[in-house]
Amino acid sequence: NISAEIVAVGTELLLGQISNTNAQWISEQLASIGINVHHHAVVGDNLTRVENQFRTSASRADVVIVTGGLGPTEDDLTREAFQQITGMDIVEHETSMAKIKTYFQKQKAGMTPNNRKQARIFAGADVIENQTGMAPGMIVSHEGKSWIFLPGVPREMKRMMTDDVIPYLRQLTGESRVIKSTMLRFIGIGESHLEHKLRDLIHYQSNPTIAPLAQNEGVAIRLTAKANTDDEAAALINQTKQEILNKVGHHYYGADEETIEKKVLTLLQQANKSVGAAESLTGGKFTDKLISIPGASHVCRGGIVCYDTEVKENVLRVSPELIQQYGTVSEECALAMAENVCTLLDTHVGISFTGVAGPDNVEGHPAGTVFIAVHERSGKQLSQKYTFQGDRQTIRKRTVLKGYELLYN
Ligand code: ATP
Ligand code: MG
Repeated sequence: NISAEIVAVGTELLLGQISNTNAQWISEQLASIGINVHHHAVVGDNLTRVENQFRTSASRADVVIVTGGLGPTEDDLTREAFQQITGMDIVEHETSMAKIKTYFQKQKAGMTPNNRKQARIFAGADVIENQTGMAPGMIVSHEGKSWIFLPGVPREMKRMMTDDVIPYLRQLTGESRVIKSTMLRFIGIGESHLEHKLRDLIHYQSNPTIAPLAQNEGVAIRLTAKANTDDEAAALINQTKQEILNKVGHHYYGADEETIEKKVLTLLQQANKSVGAAESLTGGKFTDKLISIPGASHVCRGGIVCYDTEVKENVLRVSPELIQQYGTVSEECALAMAENVCTLLDTHVGISFTGVAGPDNVEGHPAGTVFIAVHERSGKQLSQKYTFQGDRQTIRKRTVLKGYELLYN
């Protein structure tokens, strides 16, 4: 079994200015082809420390993937460090050099000597062409280890990984089987509950593997299958998916890139229904998510942010008597908000959010007390009370998610 280590080079990472998303993404990719990642390392733009890191990595990993430090500036030291510890020659790569020259001619900008640096490669390295930038990547075999050098820019790195590195690593592992994976997405059920309901499947099933994950937006299950062909892998996944849906299908809303708001939008569109929202504590977040989706205009007519009580009364026309009697954190207020927004925005469906985002109590209700109501033009209506845990932003996020869940059901 091959083990890998990911080394991210860059002082910005150590200063906390950027997160090491490269390592995270590469790890995911390696996991999906069955390569175990044993270490992530981050090292600043310092020659000695990069050299030391490379020695350490070489001592414990079969494959070392290095990102960053291939650029033109003084602080890009990845090549120098590797040369120091291996004694490998560095030469200019003609194709890359030609590309850099052409780029500067087109830009009508002068090329500085350090731009040449980006075209420098280790003699004998396999060059990975950079389709989206300047510096090429490299695959180098040295003393039985594979070294893979990639630019730090995530877009460039990802393209090289997908097009060149993953196929190379597949060969290296001798893994000729196809690996396919899919993400099943659920709402209205917690991770532990889901896991409990599927515990036998999860336990006894190894192809595809079943991995539940808690995500920002609900929970998901990743299925990963290995097979000799694409079709075979797809069939394995499909069969297990059916078994899972037999148990928890009513919480399932989609696979892979599907989101609950997209799903709701599609359902409303299919039903030829428009929607409008009256948003108090959510401050427009519900509407924002809808409008983020291309094509939202067919469904979403708008929203009213009615945070202050007077706005609920004067703009949304909730009666002051109702608010006097029940308060704004109440089922009655939520229902009136949903009905009024439905009328005011002339939509088929109105949804409302009112409650306490916290940290302080409101009208005697603790933070996390939320009412959501849905009113349909047909007169059908419903409301729900929730008690969310968490800080202000978590409560607001959960409220929006529940709103979509209510519309989905
Ligand atoms: P370039 O040729 O563009 O200079 P490079 O190989 O020298 O690329 P760096 O200079 O280290 O790479 O990084 C370029 C940019 O890529 C950084 O400013 C940062 O925004 C991003 N980046 C670098 N490393 C990472 C990382 N590990 N995770 C996420 N983003 C990163
Ligand atoms: Mg750089």
